[in-house]
Formats: sequence, C-alpha cells, structure tokens
Amino acid sequence: MSRLDLFINRMVSQRACLNHAAKLTQGMAGPVFELGLGNGRTYHHMCEIMPDRDIYVFERAVASHPDSTPPDDRVFLGDVFETLPRAYERFGATASLIHADLGGHNAEKNDVFAREISPLIAPLMAEGGLMVSSDRMYFDDLREIALPDDAIPGRCFIYKR
Ligand code: SAM
Repeated sequence: MSRLDLFINRMVSQRACLNHAAKLTQGMAGPVFELGLGNGRTYHHMCEIMPDRDIYVFERAVASHPDSTPPDDRVFLGDVFETLPRAYERFGATASLIHADLGGHNAEKNDVFAREISPLIAPLMAEGGLMVSSDRMYFDDLREIALPDDAIPGRCFIYKR
C-alpha cells in the first residue's frame, strides 16, 4: 500500500469516526477535546458537525489555517503531558468526546507516545464518553468499540468508557 493510500485511509477514517462519535455522544453535555490541532482540518470538521458543543484544543504551538484557529480561551497551549492534567483539574471526568491525532511519521514512536499518554486521557472521560484516535491506545478501563462501516480498520480506533 502506498503512502498516499495510507494517508487517504487515515483521512477517510478520521472523518467517519468523528461523524460516528459525534452522533453517538450528541446527548452528552460535557466538553469535546481535540488533541493536536495541526493545520486544523479535523478541528474545523468537529466545529461543523458539533456546532453547539464546547470544543477545546490542545496544541504545543498553534499554526493552523486561519479558518481553523480556535479562540484563545479554548486553547490549552503547551505539551499535552502538562496540559491534560491541568484540564483534569478544571473539568474532571466530564469529556463527552476526545479526538487525538498527535502522531508523526514514525509508527514506533507514535506507539510509545500512545502508551505514555493513555493514562492521562482516560481520567478525563465521562461515563459513556468516546475517544477517537489515529493510534491504538492503551486503556485499562475503556473498551474498544466497533468502527463505522465507512472507516478503515487499523487507521482509526474508538474507545468508550
Ligand atoms: N488533526 C490535525 C489536522 O487535521 O490538521 C493534524 C494534527 S498533526 C498530525 C499533530 C499535531 O499534534 C501537531 O500540530 C503537533 O504540534 C501536535 N502535538 C504533537 N505532540 C504534542 C504534544 N506532546 N503536546 C502538544 N501538541 C502536540
């Protein structure tokens, strides 16, 4: 499979899983978290499909497209290893949906990162909340659920508390 195929599969799966997770959590009141703003494409999509929900972004350095830049008061600026514990102090276990796309091009490094960050994400999840990730996560108390039909297995993962 070419790198182009892998990239397309990741994008298609992100959109499919975000649409699915937004629908499944639509009755929940808690905040939505976007981990890794990047260009802001998935953030922009999340704003489109969840216009009435409070979306907070976690990013070490904001450099997104101007159309996809969150307001300052919705940004946790800095390394997620520092900002996720701060978010827990502020919100507790209330997140209805967390999307994480923090990885780079090195699959092994992404896997190590996912193992390290999983224990900081799990406590933020509300009962019934969903986590959508581009990388496999390592949770003790969240279970992996089925992907929607239009997502490609292995390119995206969904976990539920
Ligand atoms: N989903 C985004 C989009 O659609 O444009 C792309 C996200 S990009 C692949 C990953 C982002 O995660 C980068 O902007 C990077 O700065 C951020 N990131 C990676 N590790 C981070 C960390 N430890 N703390 C905060 N941000 C981090």
